[in-house]
Amino acid sequence: MIADNTIAEIKNRIDIEEVVSDFVSLKRKGQNLWACCPFHNEKTPSFSVSPVKGFYKCFGCGRGGDALDFVMEVEKINYLEAIRYLAKKYGIEIKEEELSDDELKAQSERESLYIVLNFAKDYFQQCLNSTPEGKNIGLSYLKEREIAGETIQDFELGYTVDKWDGLLTAAQEAGHSLDILEKAGLIIPKDNRYYDRFRGRIIFPIHSVSGRVVAFGARALKKDDKPKYINSPETPVYHKSQVLYGLFQSRQDIRQQENCYLVEGYTDVTRMHQVGIKNVVASSGTSLTKEQVQLVGRFSKQVTVLYDGDSAGLEASLRGIDIILANGLDVKVILFPKDHDPDSYAQELGGNEFKLFLENNAKDFIYFKTSLVAEKAANDPLKKAVAIKDIVSSISQIPDQIKRMVYVKEASIILQMEERILIGEMNKILLKSRKEITPISDQAASAEVNSEPGSEDMISDRWNLNTQIAFQERESIRLLLKYGFNKLEQGKSLHQYLFNELEEITFSNPIYAKILDEFKSLLSADKVVNAQYFIENGSADIRKAVIDIVHERHHISSQWNDKYKIKIPIENEAIMLEQVAYTNVLRLKQRVVRKLIEDNLEKFKEKLSEQEEEEVQQIHQELKFTEQEIASRLGNVILK
Ligand SMILES: [Zn+2]
Repeated sequence: MIADNTIAEIKNRIDIEEVVSDFVSLKRKGQNLWACCPFHNEKTPSFSVSPVKGFYKCFGCGRGGDALDFVMEVEKINYLEAIRYLAKKYGIEIKEEELSDDELKAQSERESLYIVLNFAKDYFQQCLNSTPEGKNIGLSYLKEREIAGETIQDFELGYTVDKWDGLLTAAQEAGHSLDILEKAGLIIPKDNRYYDRFRGRIIFPIHSVSGRVVAFGARALKKDDKPKYINSPETPVYHKSQVLYGLFQSRQDIRQQENCYLVEGYTDVTRMHQVGIKNVVASSGTSLTKEQVQLVGRFSKQVTVLYDGDSAGLEASLRGIDIILANGLDVKVILFPKDHDPDSYAQELGGNEFKLFLENNAKDFIYFKTSLVAEKAANDPLKKAVAIKDIVSSISQIPDQIKRMVYVKEASIILQMEERILIGEMNKILLKSRKEITPISDQAASAEVNSEPGSEDMISDRWNLNTQIAFQERESIRLLLKYGFNKLEQGKSLHQYLFNELEEITFSNPIYAKILDEFKSLLSADKVVNAQYFIENGSADIRKAVIDIVHERHHISSQWNDKYKIKIPIENEAIMLEQVAYTNVLRLKQRVVRKLIEDNLEKFKEKLSEQEEEEVQQIHQELKFTEQEIASRLGNVILK
């Protein structure tokens, strides 16, 4: 047990601002400090810290407590582990009272893993610095590569002797169990025996944000030692998609510089630190993940990605940019000269010149992507079209609408293309992704006229809305019957497009719904389906509706012609058809969303609890957002 007076001393020394600052970037506003919450994903800060009261509170997810609670929550550790963590942070020696057998057993497995990983780290360091093999092979290798002693210390680099049981023997002598060693990923069972995972390699310990060793990366020294790097496997304390190499050493600098350099390898991180650029992390061993981006986002909203000059997977790694954008961070990109990576180039240039290189070569992602594809697509319109889609797709990842439009504007200038064409491209992508975010429920889309008491206006509005929804449904059926098998621009047929778009919408008009269903089942039976088919084979009500639709074509056509400036004679051309179908789908969704908004607002007429009221407001905001998105795609302006 940790002695009571130790706990008291720690509690006295705790400064919640210092403790929380190790995990998120706090900004002062009035009496309190604010940040984006580390416990839930958000774009604007609702997480506050009161240094005076010693409490934190998130107004988004409701979490709150004192500094100890914070450490327990953010590190997912228990009370005693949090005490140990804070003792280490404040350099307070822990006075332990004797552990009882039960308490020993009660030590969590996670804690045992941390202890054995820390033991291994010490062992590897000792091998590097105090064994003949470590000095002759490990240290001289690091010296040859001009890795300074300070860097070796800061990153706790080590060496593992070229034996099958170096760590295994040492750990067992120190009383660590095989079970925990294996769970920590340090030893591997084979033929009823255990072997060290890492042998004859330079060791890079991987730390959690708070500085505990959670895993290792091991680099081969000999050319024919394959693979070049061996990493710890996933363990209960190490999920590689959630860890960034170097973040523990870099986090203060990332916060101060308000920028984080993202590199590929361990040695890129250590080298850049050594030349004085200390705001750098590596996603080592994985392609960049959402969790890693969110982790960086706690410290800085700006990421600068450094790409090797000869990176084979450059185009694949460009996807990392989209992940960063999608999480609301800003991205810049730096491409290194051929045959150079940040490690080799920083070594060659030295600190000052390397810093200048970074400053002068950081490009906004959009310029970077454009210049990459511009070379390839210069004389190839087809490639150019693909390039434009690619760039627009990146921009569409940005959650902030205003930022998105700024980038569209820039892209239109660089690509020398009209803004509206880019917006059109982007809208198609947005519409598809929005669909996943805001599914439209069957119940909400059903157009039952609400006969509850309400003002005359309200009822007539709702009537009106239902009529509009039905009109758009009818238009969908018309397009389907008339052009269902026409090909669109990308070779898809119209019926595929419409079925895909209308998937989560249940038609309010039962007859249109029936036609849609029958169309689908006839398709799967390989029948040719058109208006004629339904007129000849449909039930009485379907026949009547189809005849109606076909006969009203002229009326609808002239309306299209006047209102939407779409010339009917070429309606069946692929480009035009796509636009007609696209607009129709948007209008239908717009009206369905409007109906959802009004249904939701109806709830305010009832007596609501505070929580219910909050929910209604939340839903309202989300729906309004969706409505505005759709409207902006349609070029409409919503006034209320
Ligand atoms: Zn929160």
